[in-house]
Amino acid sequence: MKLSDEEIKAPPALKARLAKLGLSRQSDLVLHLPLRYEDETRILPVAHAPAGCPVQVEVGVLDVSVQFRPRRQLVARVADASGELTLRFLNFYGSQTKQLERARDEGRKLRVFGEIRHGFLGAEMVHPRYRLVEESTPLPAALTPVYPTTAGVSQAALRRHIAAALDADGLDELLDEAWFQRQGLPAFAAAVLTLHAPPPEVPEVSLQQRTHPAWRRIKFDEVLAQQLSLRRAYLNRRGNGAPRLTARGRLAGRLLAALPFPLTAAQRRVVAEIGADLALPMPMQRLLQGDVGSGKTIVAALAACQAIEAGFQAAFMAPTEILAEQHYLKLRAWLEPLGVTVAWLTGSLSKAEKLAAQRRAAGEAQLVVGTHALIQESVDFARLGLAVVDEQHRFGVAQRLALRRKGGTGSGVPHQLMMSATPIPRTLAMSYYADLDVSVLDELPPGRTPVRTRLVSDARRDEVIARIRDAAAAGRQVYWVCPLIEESEKLQLQTAIDTHAVLSQELDGLRVGLVHGRLKADEKAATMAAFSAGEIEVLVATTVIEVGVDVPNASLMVIEHAERFGLSQLHQLRGRVGRGKDESVCVLLYQQPLSETARARLKIIYENTDGFEIARQDLQLRGPGEFVGSRQSGVPLLRYADLEADADLVELAREMADELLRKAPERADRHLARWLGSREELLKA
Ligand code: ADP
Ligand code: MG
Repeated sequence: MKLSDEEIKAPPALKARLAKLGLSRQSDLVLHLPLRYEDETRILPVAHAPAGCPVQVEVGVLDVSVQFRPRRQLVARVADASGELTLRFLNFYGSQTKQLERARDEGRKLRVFGEIRHGFLGAEMVHPRYRLVEESTPLPAALTPVYPTTAGVSQAALRRHIAAALDADGLDELLDEAWFQRQGLPAFAAAVLTLHAPPPEVPEVSLQQRTHPAWRRIKFDEVLAQQLSLRRAYLNRRGNGAPRLTARGRLAGRLLAALPFPLTAAQRRVVAEIGADLALPMPMQRLLQGDVGSGKTIVAALAACQAIEAGFQAAFMAPTEILAEQHYLKLRAWLEPLGVTVAWLTGSLSKAEKLAAQRRAAGEAQLVVGTHALIQESVDFARLGLAVVDEQHRFGVAQRLALRRKGGTGSGVPHQLMMSATPIPRTLAMSYYADLDVSVLDELPPGRTPVRTRLVSDARRDEVIARIRDAAAAGRQVYWVCPLIEESEKLQLQTAIDTHAVLSQELDGLRVGLVHGRLKADEKAATMAAFSAGEIEVLVATTVIEVGVDVPNASLMVIEHAERFGLSQLHQLRGRVGRGKDESVCVLLYQQPLSETARARLKIIYENTDGFEIARQDLQLRGPGEFVGSRQSGVPLLRYADLEADADLVELAREMADELLRKAPERADRHLARWLGSREELLKA
């Protein structure tokens, strides 16, 4: 074991607290970098020290007293040659009073660090940090680091342990010197030492804004660790064999010939990318990104055709019953006429139906469509060649892994096609999806009329009701999305039921349906089918309709309390309309007063229709942490690098990761150990 892998030596209580900060090994301490710095390298004269920013002065004590107004406090009047200053301590110990009195009596000096304020009684500092010094006590040569910490771990203790770790760790260089010099980056050791103890001449702004080359080097190393772990996971998975799904394309050709539309250029390109992957003897790990309505389903169906023609099965998994059933109906309509056997498997089937479906999956079924039920223990595919996961971000890693294990015997793991309509900006994609190949559908099918978005205050609800009547009178259909109530699912449900009751009255004469997450699957399916068939004019819904629902005759969507929804959610919801030839409208009802952020967010959704642009602006508003929070894949979040600001580093790191893995896997290991330690194990899954 190398020294740096060693555990931190500290009493158990402190060790436990350090562990809370993610610090358990010496090398963790090395990478625990300061939030900011305090400049104790200089002493300023009291009279000339600037107010409102931290400064250090060296003073003698003139007078010490405990005052009781406005509340009990210790007050010391101190001075240097230039002027006087009052120090106030609201919480203090008796011993502190004695200590200051002794300093006064013995004429000793205090070094005081704090912010000067000019109050009614002249210059003062509240709660300054101070210590007794001799005239000869040297000033520190470096800025004093202030570390992120937690209750019970003092800055002093952290500084001590970190300094010890810096001494013990070899701070080995793991990158080629020529390379990082060319990039204008310092060596690892130099970067770490600069950041923990910057010499006073380093411009503080560059430390604060983290633009200093030392920061750039650390951020690069961090992003590199992330890329390495993701790329290695990718390569490991590729190491598993997969069936070669080679086909002449006859089945796909017949499907294409039967479609009422030609593919877009983007669809053709992506179909070719996927087709090439499927023909290789290693598992495809491809993410298909495409905005709402870009036509991902047909792409997946064509991939399934290739698997089926090659003699294998395809599975198609969706996150909700509603969506899975829509896919089932659509895929069956496309493929059954071509002689493909399609099976349907969800949790809501009766026991007997489920058994029958499982038998078909283990036998003659060529395509199996369903929900999570597909990945249950009891489902054994006969010869699964391709697994399609729709809206993949709705599934956890565990589920993704489970589907991969469903391959038939001896043929390796199935190819995976993951699909997502949650567009994420390029740098985020590079970072978070570095373990996947990404295809993008960047073109919508022609003939869509863009959805017009209206922002309407709640106060004008009547006008919206009138608009619904107009739409219904013109033979079109309407979605009404109930407000999101994150705090309580029960409340959410009740709101949906109430809204349905109120709208049924207000829209007397129209047929108003209701779907929400708590309905039984067959009730849900019946309502959706009635809406699809045009037997219901207005569908009141919770966000269960967020993904995938496709009813082209619906041309008006009302979203109540739009200010409560996330931007990508609003974008997905809005994508449910604008699917037919009629001009569609999305009404965002909001309640006054709007907060500043709510206003900014509604403005983004109002002004933009492109999912990627919305995502980009959303990212700026929220920062990446929250943005991809739902990926729950164990991808370590970045502590130091900022994917927007440091996008260039992500690109560099991607290249470097591939190179290291090829040429110096041992150094890649050590880099990963330094940054991820034991957490790396998690990522190998
Ligand atoms: P999403 O990418 O959101 O899953 P879908 O696959 O549901 O989109 O497709 C949305 C609608 O567009 C569907 O009705 C689908 O049949 C239709 N569609 C897909 N591709 C084309 C195309 N090339 N031309 C016209 N319509 C298309
Ligand atoms: Mg879809």
